[in-house]
Amino acid sequence: MFPRVVLHFDISRKDSIAAIEEAMSLNKKLLILTQKNALDDNVDEKKLYSFGVLAEVKQVLKQNDETIRVLLEGKCRAQAVEFIKEKNFLEAKVLSINERKCDADALSEAMIRKARELFAEYLGASLRVTTDLIINLVAYEDVGETADYILANMPIGFEEKQSLLEENNPLKRLQAVTVILSRENEIVKIQNQLSIKLKNTIDKSQKEYFLREQMKAISSELGEGSDPGSEASEYKAKLNALKLPPAVHEKLLKECNNFSKMPSVSAEVNLLRNYLDFCLSLPWNTSTKESLNIEKAKKILDKDHFGLEDVKKRIIEFLAVKKLAPEVKGQIICLSGPPGVGKTSIVKSLAKALGRKYIRISLGGVGDESEIRGHRKTYIGAMPGRILSAINQVKSNNPLILLDEIDKLSKDYKGDPAAALLEVLDPEQNFEFHDRYVDVPFDLSKVMFIVTANDKNLIPAPLYDRMEIIDLYSYSYEEKFNIAKNHLIPKQRKRHGLTKRNFSINDEALRKLIEGYTREAGVRELERRISSLMRKTAYDIVAGKSKSSSIDSKKLGLILGPEKYKKDKREIENRVGVVNGLAWTSVGGETMPIEVALMKGKGKVQVTGSLGNVMKESAQIAVSYIRSNSEKLGISESFYKTFDIHIHAPEGAVPKDGPSAGVTMTTALVSALSRTPVYADVAMTGEITLKGRVLPIGGLKEKTMAAYKEGIKTVIIPSGNENDLKKVDRVVKDSINFIMADNLETVFAHALSSKKFKKLISSKDC
Ligand code: ADP
Repeated sequence: MFPRVVLHFDISRKDSIAAIEEAMSLNKKLLILTQKNALDDNVDEKKLYSFGVLAEVKQVLKQNDETIRVLLEGKCRAQAVEFIKEKNFLEAKVLSINERKCDADALSEAMIRKARELFAEYLGASLRVTTDLIINLVAYEDVGETADYILANMPIGFEEKQSLLEENNPLKRLQAVTVILSRENEIVKIQNQLSIKLKNTIDKSQKEYFLREQMKAISSELGEGSDPGSEASEYKAKLNALKLPPAVHEKLLKECNNFSKMPSVSAEVNLLRNYLDFCLSLPWNTSTKESLNIEKAKKILDKDHFGLEDVKKRIIEFLAVKKLAPEVKGQIICLSGPPGVGKTSIVKSLAKALGRKYIRISLGGVGDESEIRGHRKTYIGAMPGRILSAINQVKSNNPLILLDEIDKLSKDYKGDPAAALLEVLDPEQNFEFHDRYVDVPFDLSKVMFIVTANDKNLIPAPLYDRMEIIDLYSYSYEEKFNIAKNHLIPKQRKRHGLTKRNFSINDEALRKLIEGYTREAGVRELERRISSLMRKTAYDIVAGKSKSSSIDSKKLGLILGPEKYKKDKREIENRVGVVNGLAWTSVGGETMPIEVALMKGKGKVQVTGSLGNVMKESAQIAVSYIRSNSEKLGISESFYKTFDIHIHAPEGAVPKDGPSAGVTMTTALVSALSRTPVYADVAMTGEITLKGRVLPIGGLKEKTMAAYKEGIKTVIIPSGNENDLKKVDRVVKDSINFIMADNLETVFAHALSSKKFKKLISSKDC
């Protein structure tokens, strides 16, 4: 209570009610004192401040039997001088205190204005502005009154208010009030900042909560996505069961935790789900039991494959070493040879024999390192590399992986896949193979890798170094016949649901099938042809047209149409300037005639037929050799001044290269320049030197097979290749006469149909 303040409050203490009733019956005056402890109900003079306000009762209103409401107006400051306890309420002798007034000078005006300003600020900041409060404040023009008014309307502690009530110096009082106001303003400011912060965080978390709930409702309505929290705990359970190395475990656990924090339908959650699904389903500790039984392996390889003795022997030796020294990491086997010669199928048999799971990864055309090593999982459409995908597919960490066609790897701006493969194949590194997608090391050391290539020369050098190359060669007719009879036909019969009784093919028809309908190094096309015969038979049986089919030559023609490859009627005529060369390609051997034409001119040498640089150089060597030996060869010394020379290798669109056409070109040139015909049934191969020596070449088996198919009778080969004749097919050797040559004179003597050239070697023995 302050002077000039109107207050109303409820009273229910009996002595207080008695006091009011007494006051009403007398002069309506009451002394309002503050209790030192508001909770105390038994009040006597000691529990009261003696300094208070003399007030006048303005109104009394009975609320109920126990409570009355009074309206009081403060009149002036007063002090109880003596308490009297005669009645049932407290009475006191009161000294009313006259207020000191101050002069209306600049100081007091300034203080009033400052106080008003602070109070207005306080009201604004504490959001308690009411127009009444402001208007009333302006009504007070006295220092003391202003102080009292402000004090009465501020929620500060009663002790502070009491002490200022007792302060009768108005200036001091107002000063104290401005200090309080400044302090309160600071407090309110801090309070406001706190509540803004609090409100923001509450708003944000509430908003997120609502959005999450909404999203959950939407996705459950759509029937998609589940609660990442429960999914994450499933992942964690899986992870714990895997018993991974600590570093790997920790990393995956972190990803599980990330997963649990993600909203259930976002792009990232799906990426992470795929990632965790993949990583946790990898066969970290799952392997198949390997059986290294050499005898059993040998049996299986023999049973599944005809011939290929050398290959089988090398594979068995490899297994024997592995059995004796399992810890020693050997080299990687590379099977190199033309298509369809059984590379893939022998590896499959090996996997069967070893009890390892088998999977093939085709490397043909792979030009991007990430195909091997994967993309980082943050990329859109990121995937693990082929190696770990394959391992995940077979669900075993010790499968036999066949890396097919390693010679067809390409290299582009996206990195070199060969370098990534090196890491896969190198036993020093592959126990910690790092796939970028999985992002934790995976142990590939238990995996057995076998590689295949069509042309071993195209294998990237660093990979080639780590490989043990096993060559497979093209099959002869006899071999093809046996493979077809003992393997392909029974296998295809089974696949087509046929038996010996309802499908058979006689030997003559089978030979015709091989010779007339296929031309290949391996047996793939042959297998396809056999299966098309069987499809026809199966159809006839199902359609009720026949009960069985035994195929002879005539029926073969009816089903497959006219023969595709008839033996050309070779020109048996000996010709000038045309020589049969022999070439080796990755799909087997071929005959390659070389033609030379001479025209009047000035010694220009023209070479056509998509020849590579090495072949072009062979042509230059041939010309130089002839120029330096013209006298011996009986050729006009000035031929290069009077003729232009054109050398051509037909089938001009097919690129050709290699040094082995050297002898062929020289012979064709000599034939053209000396106008001597070349025997049409002679073919040749060999590299030459400027001095006329003949150097050995590769692919003899394939080349001689091609000569045999063409009906060539004599093949001239470099003496250095004599040992390779062992590998040449028996049928080929039976029907072809081989001439070993270590110099060009021997070649000319056997290829050119003129005595003059025979004389060249009369002194030597061939
Ligand atoms: P590559 O991998 O060398 O291209 P494949 O292994 O695919 O060839 O062989 C083609 C088909 O020929 C397969 O069905 C395979 O079983 C069969 N084949 C090849 N060589 C033999 C062989 N020596 N004995 C039995 N079958 C063979």
